[in-house]
Amino acid sequence: MQNSWDVVVIGAGVAGGLAALDCARRGLSVLLVEKRSFPRWKVCGCCFNANAQAALSSVGLSDLIRDQGGVELDQLRLGWNGSMLNLALPGGWALSRERFDQALVSAAEAAGARLRFQTGAVLEEICSGERMVRLRPSDGAAVERVRARVVLVAAGLQHQVLATIDASSTRIAGSSRLGAGCLIDDDDDVYASGAIHMAVARHGYVGLVRREDGALNLAAAFDPAALRSAGGAARAARAVISEAGFAVPRALETSRWQLTSALTRHADAFAGQRFLLLGDASGYVEPFTGEGMAWALAAGAAVAPFAEEAQRRWSRDLEQRWHQRLKLLTVNRQRLCRLLSTLLRQPLATDAMFRLGGYWPSLPQRVISSLNQVSPHALPSDSCR
Ligand SMILES: Cc1cc2nc3c(=O)[nH]c(=O)nc-3n(C[C@H](O)[C@H](O)[C@H](O)COP(=O)(O)OP(=O)(O)OC[C@H]3O[C@@H](n4cnc5c(N)ncnc54)[C@H](O)[C@@H]3O)c2cc1C
Repeated sequence: MQNSWDVVVIGAGVAGGLAALDCARRGLSVLLVEKRSFPRWKVCGCCFNANAQAALSSVGLSDLIRDQGGVELDQLRLGWNGSMLNLALPGGWALSRERFDQALVSAAEAAGARLRFQTGAVLEEICSGERMVRLRPSDGAAVERVRARVVLVAAGLQHQVLATIDASSTRIAGSSRLGAGCLIDDDDDVYASGAIHMAVARHGYVGLVRREDGALNLAAAFDPAALRSAGGAARAARAVISEAGFAVPRALETSRWQLTSALTRHADAFAGQRFLLLGDASGYVEPFTGEGMAWALAAGAAVAPFAEEAQRRWSRDLEQRWHQRLKLLTVNRQRLCRLLSTLLRQPLATDAMFRLGGYWPSLPQRVISSLNQVSPHALPSDSCR
């Protein structure tokens, strides 16, 4: 395999897939490395909002979700303590991560990126102005080393990609919840297609949505103590769903649940010598508002001009500008999500929110609209200034 690349992208999730596509389209040589084999399921609510759509449109992929068979979402049903709020959802889509992520990497490959699956990548030292990257295939084949002018680290929440010499570390919020999810292949018609059902309870919440293949996707966040005392994710989900007042899916406890590590975290620096962080690798706030993919796609759509500049020269200034850009694209958008997540941990506040929402549905509707308002920073920009 070629040994020297303009760009090595680590992680073929939504941030990495889109970044690889955009860099390859601009004529850069791109190696996209992914430790798993594709298509793969991952814990995610698989719902896309208007900002996710805007990021896709900014790189000419406006129809990607529709073309992949995405299901239009027009309703959000929130359940808390037996009361329900039914809200209109503007411009939402549900599409499985198997399909969506595969479509992105296929588009990246068609644009000229080289793909390596089942290969874990780790940063090594700088050598003659390039970053060394170690590739370890999971089939036991020999370790390889490649060089890159810039490495885009898009390896998700729990990445362990940076070299010990790199100063960026990740801070995990002490109160962070854990994520969990599963897929239920049922023919139950309780959870109809086109709506997100969000069951909210004291110790966590569970989102349920029908995907394009008819399967019911469950994605949840739980307090670690509640997860332990329930004796696992399936039982914790059962408790949340029934406490909220929704019907418990029949196959809930026989389905295979997958857990994530602590959700709320952030990297103290978004860049270092010849690498840029993007997507969950740069930080994440728990998923109540279901926006993580919008943040990751916005970063993936913004990074190529920085990668182009890195071919000519690397500077501290470039690192700082990426830090600023990412702050505009994600950190500021995460505030509302953080606020809502904090309120939901207070039963009295949650109760009050539901009561108010029941009397004045325009209040929660406004929150939904503001979450779906396209951020001007998510619009196309060819600049890295
Ligand atoms: C419970 C839950 C529900 C959610 N619901 C929604 C929702 O409905 N809508 C929404 O927009 N967002 C949602 N999110 C958030 C969303 O899933 C993430 O924000 C999004 O996947 C981030 O994309 P990413 O590309 O940064 O990382 P990922 O999608 O996690 O991709 C990272 C990739 O990197 C690979 N990787 C890791 N380490 C290495 C390595 N060393 N070498 C090579 N490859 C590596 C991984 O295998 C993975 O494929 C949810 C999250 C959770 C936990």
